[in-house]
Order: sequence, then C-alpha cells, then structure tokens
Amino acid sequence: MKDKIKLLAQLQECDNRIRDVLTRKEIGPRRIQELMDEVKANDLKLRELADQLELSKKERRKIEQEVQELDSRIEKSHIKLSNIKSNKEYAAALKEIEDLKKIKFDTEDKIIHIMEKIEETEKEIDTQEQTIQDLKTRADKDRKEIEKELLLLDQDLKGLEQNRDDLVKALDQDLWKRYLFLKERRGGLAVTAVIGGVCQTCHMGLPPQKFNELLKGDAIMSCPYCHRIIYWGEDKDFQSPQEAL
Ligand SMILES: [Zn+2]
Repeated sequence: MKDKIKLLAQLQECDNRIRDVLTRKEIGPRRIQELMDEVKANDLKLRELADQLELSKKERRKIEQEVQELDSRIEKSHIKLSNIKSNKEYAAALKEIEDLKKIKFDTEDKIIHIMEKIEETEKEIDTQEQTIQDLKTRADKDRKEIEKELLLLDQDLKGLEQNRDDLVKALDQDLWKRYLFLKERRGGLAVTAVIGGVCQTCHMGLPPQKFNELLKGDAIMSCPYCHRIIYWGEDKDFQSPQEAL
C-alpha cells in the first residue's frame, strides 16, 4: 500500500514540476511582448514628433514668405519715396516704411522662435530614435536568451512528461482516476503531505486517531478537511518523492 501512496506522491511532485516549467515558459515570451509594446509606444511618440516638426517647418516657410513680401513692400515704398514732391506725402511715405520695418522686425522675431522650436524637436527626435534603438537591441538580446532558456525548459518538460507517463502506467486505474478527479477540483493539488499531524495544504490538524492510521501507511487516506489524498511527510521514504524514483 505504501508503494501506491508513494507513486501518488511522486506523480503529484512531477505534476507540480510540470506546472512550474509551464509557468516559466510563459515568462520569457511575455517579457519580449512587453518590450515590443514599449517599442510600439515609442514609435508612436516618434511619429508625433515628426508631425510636429513638419508643422513647424511649414510655419517657418510661411513666415519667411511674409518677410519676403514685407521686403518687397518696403522696396516699393522706397521707390515711391524718391518720386514724391510734397513734404506731407513724403512724411506719410516715411511713416509707412517705418511701420513696415517694425512689422518685419516682429515677424523675424517669430522666425527665431520657430527655429528654436524646430531645433528642440529635432533633438527630441534624436533622443527618441536612440531610445527605440536601445529597446530593440535589448529585445533582440533577450529574445536570444529566452530562446535558449525555452529549449532547456522544453527538454525539462519532455523528461518530466516521460516520468509522468511511467508513473501513470505503474498506478492502478482507480487511483489514477481518483487523482485526476481531485486534481481538477483542488487547484491542481490532489496529494499532500501531513507533517506534525497537520495537513500541509489546508493547515488543519488531523484527529489523533486518523494521524495514527496514517503513520501505519496501510491505506490510502484523505484529509478530512480538504479531502486531498494524504501521506506522512516525515516518513523517510517520502522525504523527496522525486529523487526516490
Ligand atoms: Zn487538508
């Protein structure tokens, strides 16, 4: 009977390790996905900056054109000035030139501002491109490491699954069914150790009578509280169920 309990304990240990491996197999690809999402978000930001740069350049061209127009208006006013005879008209034309020069000055000021903005955006674009490059380099490096890790995990998994098949073959059909039934309904844990009279999964103390029965190891027993199959964990035969295989 003890052999059967031991098989069950080994099977549970094997299934626990399979579950660990499967969980670890998900971690790496998830990390890569996170990095790729980050790349995507940064690409979007880069596109926004490029659009912003384009707009600023368009605005600069528009203002430069305004300056050119002002220049030609000033030139025309100068020509007009040389043909004026009356003092009154001369003063008016001079005033017009002064006004135009003032507008030109303010407009040129706008160009300086927009040039500063363009320079700033270009710097941000450089930084952004570097960030994306770094992220991609990191993702490539991590991907290679993760691929190696996944290969090892797959090897582990293959070994464990083989191990599991062997255990299942050695187990009675009825016990196997009971194990599966419990495993499905008890969060993947059908078999658990009892140490110091306490179930190691639900942490309830077994009644002394039950515990004494368990020590004998004559029958397949269940925890009266969580109904999992129990074995005496302090029994040296059960210290490391996997190694005993
Ligand atoms: Zn229990």
